[in-house]
Amino acid sequence: MKIQNARLAISAAVVLAVGAVSASSALAVWGMHGHTISGRAAATRLPTQMPLFFREATAQLAYLNPEPDRWRADTLRAMDEAFKYDHYIDWEVIPDSAIAARDRWGYLAVLRRTGLERPEREAGLLFFRVLELHQRLTTEFRLWRTTTDPEQRRWIEQRIINDAGILGHYVTDGANPHHTSVHHNGWAKGYPNPRNYTTDNTFHRRFESDFVGARITLQDIQPRINATPRHLADTRTEVLAYLRQSHSQLERLYQLDQRNPFNQQTTAPENKAFAVERLAAGANMLRDLWWSAWLNSAPAQ
Ligand SMILES: [Zn+2]
Repeated sequence: MKIQNARLAISAAVVLAVGAVSASSALAVWGMHGHTISGRAAATRLPTQMPLFFREATAQLAYLNPEPDRWRADTLRAMDEAFKYDHYIDWEVIPDSAIAARDRWGYLAVLRRTGLERPEREAGLLFFRVLELHQRLTTEFRLWRTTTDPEQRRWIEQRIINDAGILGHYVTDGANPHHTSVHHNGWAKGYPNPRNYTTDNTFHRRFESDFVGARITLQDIQPRINATPRHLADTRTEVLAYLRQSHSQLERLYQLDQRNPFNQQTTAPENKAFAVERLAAGANMLRDLWWSAWLNSAPAQ
């Protein structure tokens, strides 16, 4: 009962926090720069066994990485409301029974039973968004392998590049611990804060837009892409592990900001190392997810 009460209190705090940030979040999601360099780094480290049309799509895949942020618009409410919750996952409010659901609808149903009134808003849909797009990409690669009509093949190639690029956005979002937590823009009210982490609601922007935009380049990320791609046979387990690992870095992010606040002028090497590590984690995961969609689309032997 105590837990249930705490969760309801937390839910209210999260609703307020998410509501407060929504107006500014269109510009505060790894920023255009972070998304673009992470997407480009992934696209320039593709195995030569992948189809040539895909390996030649580097510029387009980089361009598409920030695309879902271009859909964020307070003036276009139907579109914004439909997709804005795909950008994050707040692990603090999600029981294992919810994340074990097969799809986003089952997940939302379980969360509603735990007391969340607006589970899509209070918990976020990032995990399922990644799975959905990865399954779509795998399907498209499978069609590409079997379609013999040259014109249809070109159409499928456009679908593949576009969906791979959009997948890239959400994978990259997941690399930022801010996107895996209720503490997405300063430590949330209603939660214990014994280490006195900042409650500053410009933190999200200062880290991923201001600092990354001014201090991180493609050349910082590219050498961090592993030479050998991983085949993620069990995508679901791998994506979960990736998002949980990112969440495990949340307090480190707050501690770094305590020592040297993130902004355009920050030169502390440990702040830079953290941002590079996170952006590279996103780019590695993205490259491996693209590669795995290709491999998993092959007919069973
Ligand atoms: Zn996003």
